[in-house]
Amino acid sequence: MSREERVYADPSMNMENEEYWKATKQGKLILKKCDDCGETHFFPRIICPHCQSSNTSWYEASGKGRIYSYSVVRRAPIPYAIAYVTLDEGVSMLTNLVDCDFDDLAVDKEVEVTFRDTEGGEKLPMFRPV
Ligand SMILES: [Zn+2]
Repeated sequence: MSREERVYADPSMNMENEEYWKATKQGKLILKKCDDCGETHFFPRIICPHCQSSNTSWYEASGKGRIYSYSVVRRAPIPYAIAYVTLDEGVSMLTNLVDCDFDDLAVDKEVEVTFRDTEGGEKLPMFRPV
């Protein structure tokens, strides 16, 4: 299952997601939850997209989820799999599936977060089968 790794571009940071990328750099996946309506949202924003409250706070995610949908890109110098993963916390992330045999992937398969270095030394959250 060892395959050549792709080179990942650095994430673009701004004041809304800076904390998020600081956490991934330390191998932690964090999410934003609204302190008023209680809903978790992703991608991180200052204003809750459910109720427009600015009372939001960070918490560490379980890192566990399931594949909602995926696509394997085989016609690339280094084949890869992109996916929407729905976290146990209820939000979905567009991400990559790694450390896996692409032929064994399936919708609803359990996955967990892992991290990959970017070209500039940041880390991106990706998922692998449990
Ligand atoms: Zn809210």
